[in-house]
Parts: sequence; structure tokens; C-alpha cells
Amino acid sequence: SPGILNHSSKWRYSTKVEYKPIRSVLVANRGEIAVRVFRACTELGIKSVAIYSKEDRAHIHRLKADESYLVGEGLPPVQAYLNIPEIIKICKDHGIDAVHPGYGFLSERSDFAQAVIDEGIRFIGPTPEVVYKMGDKVAARDAAIAAGVPIVPGTDGPITTKEEAKEFCIKHGLPVIFKAAYGGGGRGMRVVRKMEEVEENFQRASSEALSAFGNGAMFIEKFIERPRHIEVQLLGDRAGNVVHLYERDCSVQRRHQKVVEMAPAPHLDPKIRQQMTDLAVKLAKHVGYENAGTVEFLCDEQNNFYFIEVNARLQVEHTVTEEITGIDLVQSQIRIAEGMTLPELGISQDQIKPSGFAIQCRVTTEDPAKNFQPDTGRIEVFRSGEGMGIRLDGASAFAGAIISPYYDSLLVKVIAHSKDLQSACAKLNRALREFRVRGVKTNIPFLLNVLENQKFLNGAVDTYFIDENPQLFK
Ligand code: ADP
Repeated sequence: SPGILNHSSKWRYSTKVEYKPIRSVLVANRGEIAVRVFRACTELGIKSVAIYSKEDRAHIHRLKADESYLVGEGLPPVQAYLNIPEIIKICKDHGIDAVHPGYGFLSERSDFAQAVIDEGIRFIGPTPEVVYKMGDKVAARDAAIAAGVPIVPGTDGPITTKEEAKEFCIKHGLPVIFKAAYGGGGRGMRVVRKMEEVEENFQRASSEALSAFGNGAMFIEKFIERPRHIEVQLLGDRAGNVVHLYERDCSVQRRHQKVVEMAPAPHLDPKIRQQMTDLAVKLAKHVGYENAGTVEFLCDEQNNFYFIEVNARLQVEHTVTEEITGIDLVQSQIRIAEGMTLPELGISQDQIKPSGFAIQCRVTTEDPAKNFQPDTGRIEVFRSGEGMGIRLDGASAFAGAIISPYYDSLLVKVIAHSKDLQSACAKLNRALREFRVRGVKTNIPFLLNVLENQKFLNGAVDTYFIDENPQLFK
């Protein structure tokens, strides 16, 4: 996503980091990802530290940590987790060695990474400079060009007038996609296919962006028809070593947001896989990428692929890569932040051998029958699917848990690992059928429809799949 340019004028980089063992990690996040990081800490013998808003005072992520501290009293629920000075103060007051930002919240804020480092605390992620560059769409595209990575044709920078929009469309042709320059998470996008609709759509998209993100500036890109979303997982260290952990396919999306993710990408031409992974590594080396990150591409039906963005953080779908490679990405992140190199961690490119097929679905507390409206309340009954090849990553999935309206609606990620796409889907399907959730609605009926769709089972879906198959909602 284009990210937030909130400090461009007073920006300065200081990346002087003292590498030494990490004894405690504060997770500046909540829910599922906080618990995921605490688990890695515990396995490494590192103390885990939670922060929680007052709305989350009874949330399980607080109880899963060795220590926990209230943040953002008096602030709205989301703002509580964005309160940088208070999070830094907690770290200083309690002698915390490192901060993990998770995904969402402060994870792509270079000013946060910098504030952490300025206090002599380790930031478990790339340097602030790299977080900044990768969050700035123009800088990220420039880096891709410099590394020889093909990009989607687009405007050179944010534009603000309908005349500029029209000019781009005349020059490059239709269809195009408008993206909020300061948006993200798949929100604020609009596809335009007719020249006479360019100006009006631009005005509307821009005013939507203004009210949603506080800035009406837009990017325009050529719209790639029927793309698959394929992304490459990377790990880099302070010595400049970078490896890829192969790719994920995240084409199953609803409103440009990922719903089902898998690794490896089904039917991907091995030559294309080689090119994509090589270019992703080249880009990472070019910018001095340290820690875990992802390079995202769109791939069209003719096997042309285009860079769209770098996510300079851990992603929701990192699990499927862990399953096929056997590498714990969060533990690797922590070790890299301690200063260990990839060779010291026993990670070298020729030893990363993907095995089998992994697929994840995001079980959310949303009602597919009501246009995925979030549901809230108390979970009265909860039983989960289990058994061979099933992994569950969650935080509030148990009887008695209160699902609040304040945060995103992810309940649990269900991951299946098996020898191939069909058998992994059969496992996931079987596990989802074992779930019993009463008290709040979930999207499980919808996920089961996806997992039973023949086109899906053939591994032949692109980002149009959900939109073109309204029967999946029933
Ligand atoms: P965000 O950062 O908001 O998630 P991305 O740039 O990663 O946005 O795009 C999210 C999704 O939107 C992509 O996976 C793809 O489905 C769609 N998309 C984005 N850009 C294009 C494009 N130029 N052509 C076609 N689809 C696109």
C-alpha cells in the first residue's frame, strides 16, 4: 500500500543499531499476530510483553504474554495501539530489549521504527529508511525500476486533478485503476473502463480518499486484466545476504482483500517462478533489505508479471510459507534483529526446499448472508477442527470469548498442509466442517463454498474469482 508520508520534512535516518541478544520483546499489536509472536518468543526463551487497550483488558493476547501493560487510556480503541510515545515509554520503564510491530497498526510506520531505535531498543523489521522507502509508492517503484523489476505503468507521483487523470488515460489507454495515494488494505480502489467515466470517477474516488484517509491524492495505474496475485517471501540480514522462501498465491480476494492464500502458486511456470524470485531478491539487495519482507506481483494470463508493492513487515499469510519450507519466520525475524546472519541461522538458498502444498483461510466473524457484515457478541459454543496437517493461529477463538466491534474481525486462521492442492483443500474442508461456532456468525459457509468450487480445486483462479461467482455467498 502507498503508506503514510507523515514526516517527510523532518526526516532523518539513524540506523546505528547495537546488535546483541534479545531478552524481551514487546509486541505493539493485539490479537492473533500478538499471540503468534509471543509463541516464537517463548520457544526462544525470550520474555514476551503485551500492550492492551482498555477494550482489550480481558482479551486473550494480554494473558498469553509474560507481562502486559495498558496503553491509550482515554483514546479510541484503535488509537490506543498507535500511541507511539506511550509504547516507547513502556519499553523504557520496563527495560524491554525489542519491539515487534506485527501487521497493521504501526507496522509500516518508519517514524515508529525510528523512535524505537532512537531509544536504543531493537526494531524487529527492516531499517526505518527501508520501511519509509517501501511505504512510499514512488520510491518503491523507483527502487524496482533500478533493480530491473517490471512495474505496472502508472503516474509518476500522486495526482490531484481530473485533468491529470484524463491525460494519463489518453496516453496509456484503458482500463485503469485509481488508488488512494495514502490508502491501503485494498481500500479506496476503483477500476475505470470508459473514457467518458474517467473524470467523474476520479472526482468521486478522490473525495472518498479524502474522507477515508485525510488526503485526496490518487495514483493511476494500468489495470491488469484477470491477474493472479503472486508474492515472494524474503529474508535478509545485516550482512546483505538475502534469500527467498518461494512464492504465495493470494488471488482469492474479496474487494481487493485476501481471503484464501496458498503456497506454492498452482501451475506457476517454473521459468516465471525463477524470474520472479530472482528479481525479488535483486530488489531486496538493491535497497539493503534486512529482516522479513514480501515483494508483491500481479501476473497476467500471458505470464507477464508486474511489481505492485513491497510489504516491509510480516504478513497475515506468512504461515503457508512456514508450512512448506519448515522455517519459522517469526523466530528468524527475532534472530536477525539480534544480529545473526542467515548462514549463522543455517538458512541458505540451496537448502530451502519447499515441500508439499499449504493453504490458509481466514475465518472471520462476518456474516456472508448479510454482505459480510461483522458480527459481535459472546461465543457461546466453540469447537475447532483438528487433526493431521491442520494448524490454527488465532487469539479469540474459544467459548466465552467476547467479539467486540472495535477491531478487525479475524477469528482464527486455519492452515492445512498436505502433499498437493487437492489433498490440502480436502483437509481444510474437513477441518472447517468440524468447527462449531455458536453465538457469533462466521464466514465458514462461504469458505466451504470456495473449497468445493471445481475451478478453485483445479488451481485456476484469478482475482476475479469471487466477484464472478456470487453463488459462493449462499
Ligand atoms: P493494498 O496495499 O491496498 O492492499 P495493493 O496495491 O496491494 O493494495 O493491491 C491489492 C489488490 O488490488 C491486488 O492484489 C489486485 O487484486 C488489485 N490490484 C491492485 N493494482 C492492480 C492493477 N494495476 N491491476 C489489476 N488489479 C490490481
